[in-house]
Amino acid sequence: MRLILLGPPGAGKGTQAKSIINEYKIPHISTGDIFRKNIKEGTPLGKKAKDFIDKGLLVPDELVVDLVKSRLDEDDCENGFLLDGFPRTLVQATALEEVLGDSMKLDYVINIEVKKELLVDRITGRRMCKDCGAAFHVSFNPPKKESVCDLCDGELYQRKDDTVETVASRIDVYLNETMPLVDFYTKKDILLNVDGEQEISKVFEDIKKALGSEE
Ligand code: ADP
Ligand code: ADP
Ligand code: ZN
Repeated sequence: MRLILLGPPGAGKGTQAKSIINEYKIPHISTGDIFRKNIKEGTPLGKKAKDFIDKGLLVPDELVVDLVKSRLDEDDCENGFLLDGFPRTLVQATALEEVLGDSMKLDYVINIEVKKELLVDRITGRRMCKDCGAAFHVSFNPPKKESVCDLCDGELYQRKDDTVETVASRIDVYLNETMPLVDFYTKKDILLNVDGEQEISKVFEDIKKALGSEE
């Protein structure tokens, strides 16, 4: 299955991704995770991307497209993949169509819908695992042991771009640059809308139902 997860920052894409890849046995490709890894390791890509990310702006399309292109070339993507956080602009979406061609068409785009008012609390309370990238929340999804990842015992941290100021800019960027993709994929008849304001487990149930009823 070739899938995209779409939705505003804080919608729950990363959280749902962990369950989806487990259920459908496909690799999780999160451009945000890839950038954070490169920043941590101080690679040339990380150095180029860091300022944009810290300001809540998008990393330029050409950097992201090349990165995804080479990731999709790896063997584990042969039977499908879950893209999380990509595409985020129409330029990226069009480039992806070209990369995939006719033989690897996308199956579905899962659009997780959450209203703007809920996003700030979700993002400022988010805590991420340093080792596996899992997302927790201080109130909505607390880890069993404070500051420790339930999945791998890794240490939890707060992302530098998860501040009130940066969130405002990220939400604007989403509305201006990423929202048009909802229309783009609706016209292709592959968009599945899911109510992301429900409990985490209920959102996943709805994703499974939406994918199942389409098969
Ligand atoms: P969130 O899950 O909160 O939406 P991500 O982890 O997906 O955030 O992305 C973090 C940041 O990395 C974004 O704010 C942006 O600066 C950069 N980024 C990630 N994916 C892309 C992309 N496809 N295009 C441009 N920038 C991206
Ligand atoms: P995204 O990848 O879309 O930016 P995340 O999956 O990282 O979003 O979730 C953002 C924050 O909201 C995290 O702290 C996560 O624990 C929390 N969260 C995710 N889904 C829900 C939900 N359905 N209800 C409440 N909080 C949620
Ligand atoms: Zn972990």
